[in-house]
Amino acid sequence: MPDEELIGRLRRFEKAFPSYEDTWRTLADEGQHPTILFIGCSDSRVVPYMLMGCGPGELFLVRNVGNLVPPYEVDGAHGSAAAIEFAVLNLAVKHIVVCGHSHCGAIRALYEPPPPEAKHMARWLTHAQGAILPVVPTEEALRRVEQRSIAIQLDHLMTYPMVRRNVEAGKLMLHGWHYLIGEGKVLVLDVHSGEFMPVDEQAQRHGAIGLQVGSDMPGLDRLVPGAC
Ligand SMILES: [Zn+2]
Repeated sequence: MPDEELIGRLRRFEKAFPSYEDTWRTLADEGQHPTILFIGCSDSRVVPYMLMGCGPGELFLVRNVGNLVPPYEVDGAHGSAAAIEFAVLNLAVKHIVVCGHSHCGAIRALYEPPPPEAKHMARWLTHAQGAILPVVPTEEALRRVEQRSIAIQLDHLMTYPMVRRNVEAGKLMLHGWHYLIGEGKVLVLDVHSGEFMPVDEQAQRHGAIGLQVGSDMPGLDRLVPGAC
């Protein structure tokens, strides 16, 4: 992208700003109060604001390769972990969505290891290692691996003390979503069956979507059989 194009984009933003000025000024004066932490892949085809129909100030975002959640470490120093802590402790979000997607390069890379120089990526992808199926990675198989990884990331989220505490207190719900690029559909994880299904079907079955941990709920190790 030539410099000219970048400058042009900034100019267009500044020109359009007056029509949105009130919203931005309120956000600047009153701060942000998003209720959703959205953990999505860095993939350019995943557009959280479009998916959720949200405007500025409504989504707190974590984006990384493969929408992965590093397990909680007492002495850790990971950017994604810091964002999760901030979202739960400071913003008191009500929902955390782990949104994976079809045709995910990170999930494919589980079968086609990155170049030797990409050491960070190789280590990072170990957070999804448990999702691998010992099969030929056909497109159909990759969709299953993408879904299994989403369940694993929810499991990792529950290793964060503040996440587990708020989920168990009924203050926070976790959601696993699988966005099908090209189909305009999002499948949601049904914690009762471990299946990903269209949102209407899931809501009809249970009246709500998301994960509420309680004594009568299955453990995450039962979700997406063999996932965890
Ligand atoms: Zn991806």
